[in-house]
Amino acid sequence: MRQWLRREPIVIQAGVGAVLRDVRGREYLDANSSIWTNLHGHCHPKLDAALRLQLKRIAHSSALGLANEPASRLAARLVAAANAENKRAAGVSPKHSVLATTSKVFFSDDGSTALEVALKLAYEYTRRTRGPKTRPRFLSLQGAYHGDTVGAVSLGQIPLFRKAYTGLLFNVDQVPAPYCYRCPYNRARPERADARSYRQCQWECVGKFEQVLRARKKKRAEPYAAFVFEPLIQGAAGMIPQPSGWLSRIVELIRPDRTLLIADEVMTGFGRTGVLSDSTADAPVGTDRGRAVARQDGIFATTRLGVKPDFLCLAKGLTGGYLPMAATLTTQAVFDAFLGEHEEFKTFFHGHSYTGNQLGASVALASLDVLESRDSIRARARLQQAMNDSLQLLWGLPNVGDVRQVGLVVGIELVKNWRTREAFDLRQQIGARVCDAMARRGVLTRPIGNVIVLMPPYCTTPAQVAKMAAVMAEAIEETMGRAGPLGRPRRV
Ligand SMILES: *Cc1c(COP(=O)(O)O)cnc(C)c1O
Repeated sequence: MRQWLRREPIVIQAGVGAVLRDVRGREYLDANSSIWTNLHGHCHPKLDAALRLQLKRIAHSSALGLANEPASRLAARLVAAANAENKRAAGVSPKHSVLATTSKVFFSDDGSTALEVALKLAYEYTRRTRGPKTRPRFLSLQGAYHGDTVGAVSLGQIPLFRKAYTGLLFNVDQVPAPYCYRCPYNRARPERADARSYRQCQWECVGKFEQVLRARKKKRAEPYAAFVFEPLIQGAAGMIPQPSGWLSRIVELIRPDRTLLIADEVMTGFGRTGVLSDSTADAPVGTDRGRAVARQDGIFATTRLGVKPDFLCLAKGLTGGYLPMAATLTTQAVFDAFLGEHEEFKTFFHGHSYTGNQLGASVALASLDVLESRDSIRARARLQQAMNDSLQLLWGLPNVGDVRQVGLVVGIELVKNWRTREAFDLRQQIGARVCDAMARRGVLTRPIGNVIVLMPPYCTTPAQVAKMAAVMAEAIEETMGRAGPLGRPRRV
């Protein structure tokens, strides 16, 4: 905090599209979509109009014991999107995928509470179905981040975030994340390409996962209650993308135990993981094909992969980045475990004051309309390609170790030397210094340690993406030039 107090913050006053403006009139590109929340740009006319229209009716009324139309309509839309069939998904064998179809929606306010709700439901569902003596235990991925409330921190595996609160947390078992760039089993020497594309391994990470499950059986411990994961790419863990086929292998291993799957799509949801093919984007104008194909590909990572979780947690992009709102989708089976007459007290004792908020639900519906429009699909296909093209120049820098892109999310990992993958000491704050240098050049983003995140709003133009990449390259060169390979942190 001393560092924060030492300087004047950038004070944001306005924004339009991918551009933010501060109180002094300086403009910046919003290169991380305002911490991964914004989808279609700031001050989007359709989202603004939906909010204004809803404001003429009501801003909020309690959804405890009452219903409202926007929230109900949103729930139906989310269920439809979550169950969209993707015929092209490599997917999991049907016998595992039919186990879960999400059909119920629980609204809350942010990603942490979306996970908190899934955790509590999974815990109590397990006790009710396996018997009261059961002690539900959870499994999550190395480096996992699932939010900052106490239950969500327990599910997470970032030691720095857990340390101070150990006494408040419960233990969650950990399995290796498929971090190809730093994988101890990847025998490939570093190349100038995404580490997933040239990895040499025998899926040892999946083998380790299997060992964890087997060890539990050997101890005659009951199967895990639930496995929590981010599909396709782990965000706050450092933008760690999963090699193709990893998740379906994991699901095949864990499903026979009837372990529940909790998919955290707080970051990956709502189109972030990209559009599958250019032909989608080029569907002839005047036909409905663009929309139909996009639905098939899915707006969630799980639908794209053909994985059906028991819980789907959504937040960040749900309202297009306008208002705090979250949703936890679950199955009829989980719902039924909480079904009873009043005197049975089987209900889920959890509820938030602003649950089902009408303004949030209205803007979320407008955001889904935009997301499913042909124009948006086309724009995302173009942006995805533009990001790929623009980022190629980073491979020319010796301090860029890995450039990993999943759709419209990119992580650039900075290293002392790409040939050795040697990491910078976090105390050098290399990532933060590169982001400071980018901010001075009019591009705003935040690092995760030594990883620079690029996650622009979907309305970002190819020229704006090219600027983000060029500015990042300059900022890396400036920071490294000043720091030198073994440089000390610059004094603030
Ligand atoms: C941001 C994030 C959360 C927490 O969401 P908040 O709205 O910040 O509470 C949980 N999971 C993932 C994957 C996230 O990226």
